[in-house]
Amino acid sequence: MNCPVCESTELIQGALEANLTSMKCPDCKGNWIHGAEYWKWLEKHGPNLPEMPEPVNDLQSSETGKYLDCPECQFRMSKFLVGHGIGFTLDHCEGCKGIWLDGNEWEALKSRNLHDDLNAMLTEFWQASARREARRKHLEKIYTQKFGAEDFAEIRRVRVWLDNHRNKQELIAFLTDKDPFGI
Ligand SMILES: [Zn+2]
Ligand SMILES: [Zn+2]
Repeated sequence: MNCPVCESTELIQGALEANLTSMKCPDCKGNWIHGAEYWKWLEKHGPNLPEMPEPVNDLQSSETGKYLDCPECQFRMSKFLVGHGIGFTLDHCEGCKGIWLDGNEWEALKSRNLHDDLNAMLTEFWQASARREARRKHLEKIYTQKFGAEDFAEIRRVRVWLDNHRNKQELIAFLTDKDPFGI
């Protein structure tokens, strides 16, 4: 079985955890996890660990962003967002249920305790929330470029204040009226 990224490199037997084997690429350090292996590990792993807000260490994924073919059944794999501040995606084969993780991705997920949530990441519920998060981040970037970080922080503060104000509509009307005092 060859690496879906390096293509000509053969995957070798490895282990991500004591009870979780993977097929590892000696070149790009990616890991192929059989769907069934992950479910078995999850059962033994015990209760879902609470998510850690900050990563223990700042690991960079070696993800290239291109679509990959499943190393087992050659199906084109789908990309699933991780979200929660993590920028890379998981590659998942709908055919055999296997998961491809690029180099460092298991470690990065583990440092946030998200490594026992791969099953949840593959649900539409998780994906919809991750898409909302990505969209919010994208818009924040655009507004920060447009207004500058300081003004953007200020307008957001005003917005929160307005949103929670019982006279919100009147305040907005006052703010946008060219001549509120009629002079
Ligand atoms: Zn590789
Ligand atoms: Zn497959």
